[in-house]
This record gives sequence, C-alpha cells and structure tokens, in this order.
Amino acid sequence: MPLRLLKYGLSRRYPVRGDLPPTPDLRPAYDVVIVGGGGHGLACAYYLSRYHGIRSVAVLEKGWLAGGNTARNTTTIRSNYITPEGIAFYREGVQLFEEMSRELDFNVMFSQRGQLTLAHSEATLRSFHLRAEMGRHLGTRIEVVDTKGVEALAPLLHMDYGGALEIVGGLWHADGGTARHDAVAWGYASQAARRGVELHQRTEVLAFERVGERIGAVLTNRGRIGCGNVLIACGGMNYPVALKAGVELPIRNFPLQAMVTQPLKPFLHNLVSSVSLHTYLVQTDRGEVVIGGGSDPYQLYSTRSTLDMKEHLAAGAVHLFPFLKSVQLTRQWAGITDMTPDYSPIMGASPVENLWLDCGWGTWGFKATPVAGKRMAETIATGRVPAILKPFALARFGSFRLLNEMGATAASH
Ligand SMILES: Cc1cc2nc3c(=O)[nH]c(=O)nc-3n(C[C@H](O)[C@H](O)[C@H](O)COP(=O)(O)OP(=O)(O)OC[C@H]3O[C@@H](n4cnc5c(N)ncnc54)[C@H](O)[C@@H]3O)c2cc1C
Repeated sequence: MPLRLLKYGLSRRYPVRGDLPPTPDLRPAYDVVIVGGGGHGLACAYYLSRYHGIRSVAVLEKGWLAGGNTARNTTTIRSNYITPEGIAFYREGVQLFEEMSRELDFNVMFSQRGQLTLAHSEATLRSFHLRAEMGRHLGTRIEVVDTKGVEALAPLLHMDYGGALEIVGGLWHADGGTARHDAVAWGYASQAARRGVELHQRTEVLAFERVGERIGAVLTNRGRIGCGNVLIACGGMNYPVALKAGVELPIRNFPLQAMVTQPLKPFLHNLVSSVSLHTYLVQTDRGEVVIGGGSDPYQLYSTRSTLDMKEHLAAGAVHLFPFLKSVQLTRQWAGITDMTPDYSPIMGASPVENLWLDCGWGTWGFKATPVAGKRMAETIATGRVPAILKPFALARFGSFRLLNEMGATAASH
C-alpha cells in the first residue's frame, strides 16, 4: 500500500463517516415504533420520513440491521403470481425496484435478467398458460415458451428429451430479476437516518403495554418507549412478537435453506427454476451459482443447514446443468420463514387499534420490500389501508377470502 494512502487512512483530518449513525439513546416516545430492522421495517421508515413528513420514528432491531431473512434470501424479484391481487401488488414492487438505485442514491445492483420457470409436463404447461394470460392482462411481461424458446434462453440446460423429466416448455417472465439484498436494506436505512429516523440495533422488544384497545408503550431490553403507532415487521419472529401484543396470527414457521457454489465463468444469464424438481438457480455477478428450493418439510425455529436439503438441491441443480457435478459448494444457510395458509402476506390493521402488521412474508417477501414499505407507510400515516393492500388483510382468514399463491411461490419464491 502506498505510504501516502496509509497516512490518509490514519489521519484524524479525514475521519471515517459510515453511512449509518451509531445507535442513539432511546427517547421517551416516538410517533411510530417499527419492530424489526429488516428490509421491510427500514423501507417503511424511509417512506414515512420522506413522503409523509413523519420523522419521529424508531426502528428497533434485536440484532443487527438486515441480519434476518433480508440477508439470507436468494433475491428473486418478480411479479408472475397467480391471483389478480397478487400480480397487481408485486408488479408495483418490480416497478419500485426499477427506480430504486436512483430513489435511494445507492446502487442496489438491480439486474432485470428475466426468470424462466420450466414445465416438465403438459399439465404444468396448461397452468403456465393461465398465469401468462392473467399476467399479461395486468401488465406484466410474461409468456409461455416452447422447447426452442427454452433452449434459446438457457443454452446449457439439459433438456432431458425422452427422459422422465423432459422439459416441454417454460414460463418466461422478462420483468424478473435480482438485486443486492444488503444494499437494499442499507440504502433504505441510510436515507431514513438522514431524515431523522433513529435506528436502534441490539434493541429487542420484550413486551407491549396495553392501554385499553391500544398499545401504550413498547418494552425493550433498553427501556420503555411510548408510541403513537406500532408496526410489526419481524420476519421469522412475527408470530411470537404479535402474540406479545395479544394478536394470534395464522402463521407457522418453517426453515428455508439455500446454498452457493464457487465462482464459475458466466454460463447462466437468467433465473431458472423447476417446479417439479423444487430447485432454482441464479448465477451472481461474481459468478457463484445460488441454488434454492422449497422449505424444510417440518416446523422449526432454527437456522441450521441439513445434509438432506443439500443433497436434494444438488441433485436438482445437477439434473438441470450436469456439468455442475464437479463444482464445489462454498456455503449453505437457512432462514426462518413465517408461512401463511394461502402463501400470501398479512398487511394492514390488527385487532389492536394502533398496531399495524407487515407479516407472513414466508419465502417470498424480499421482492415486496419497497412496495410493502411504501404502502405500509401510507397506511400508518393516513390511518387508511390503500386499495392495493386491502385484499391482504388479516380479516380474510375469518371470511374465507384467501389469496392462494401456493403454485407461484412454493419452488421459486
Ligand atoms: C433462504 C431464503 C431464501 C429466500 N429467497 C427469497 C427470494 O428469492 N425472493 C423473495 O422475494 N424472498 C425470498 N425469501 C424471503 C425473504 O427473505 C423474506 O420474506 C424477507 O426478507 C422478509 O423481510 P423482513 O424485513 O420482513 O424480515 P427480516 O429481514 O427477517 O427482518 C426482521 C427483523 O426483525 C428482527 N426482530 C425479530 N424479533 C424482534 C424483536 N423481538 N425485537 C426487535 N427486532 C426483532 C430480526 O432480528 C430481523 O432482523 C427467502 C428467505 C430465505 C430464508
């Protein structure tokens, strides 16, 4: 290292200024307390401070910012869902990602490279036609492609012609893509902090103090805080945290695992996912291949990785790209996902007057970070749930108006 650079680095005249301020002391009260410093909580804080002039906001994070599922996800962004309500919501999410680097003045490395979902049977292909019709009608870029189309999009894919898992076509979603998950969280965090939002790391919410139908105060490991409104955005811990406020959510927790290979030369431009193999792959800008699939088949609050899931994902990946058999895995990890019965989130009001929910994000919530943050901020600021969020109300489980997205989220998030 040149001596001049070292002197510059050590000089007191050029102190290091991080993008994020250190955790301040807690104030006695805030207009809005956000429980959970993942992407969703941070995005909501940003939109509150920037577009609604609400700056008395505390984000309480029991660990470090974005250390939950935000930092563990495989970053698939897409809007090729099944229900009209789901498509409209996630489409707005994709649009916000398209503008995000400019909006946050922070490069979130959004890469709109498209997603290809493979069909290994005529029945799957028929369901893809339905999704394509619905998606096109609602303004997403989506179409069914035949085998020639699949080969053109992923030339190194093993088509298994004549085999048991022959690829008979695919669903091509040109709007799909990825973004750098940490950058999304840091971008929202730094822009929110710049507008006066307080980011409290290592601040765990232990209980809520009820005053009649409202939450009067939030009790943390660092003290008691009075609050105007409270938002729960705790990822895998949504169920136990909401329960502390007296709200039982229809959520069950399952681990979700993923893994990554050593870096390889670029061979896969798009995201590729197989419904039948329950496996999806995406090659990162660094060349690593990120491989993911479905959740573990049992409920658990644990982030351990398992050999059986590694074998399952490796088998799926090698079936699709046989040359991956000689590639080394460098990491495997897991997150705790909060699954709802219909594979759609729960957003909006709770039975407690000033308590709002941004929960049930299961295996698919990274792509919704901007739209959930924006729309929950609007909800809290105005006290009214916007039309785009209404179908995702907790009350839908009582009136059997479920939004079944299982077929769209189970294998490729
Ligand atoms: C392996 C894996 C792959 C995935 N892949 C995708 C994908 O490709 N695309 C996609 O869209 N989604 C994906 N997801 C889902 C996605 O990661 C989540 O839905 C999303 O990150 C949820 O964001 P969040 O901000 O709500 O939660 P989180 O990022 O989990 O943040 C919640 C925060 O709340 C904090 N917290 C919890 N309890 C308390 C408390 N008592 N007090 C204070 N703070 C608390 C936690 O520490 C955590 O930091 C994947 C998830 C996993 C695990």
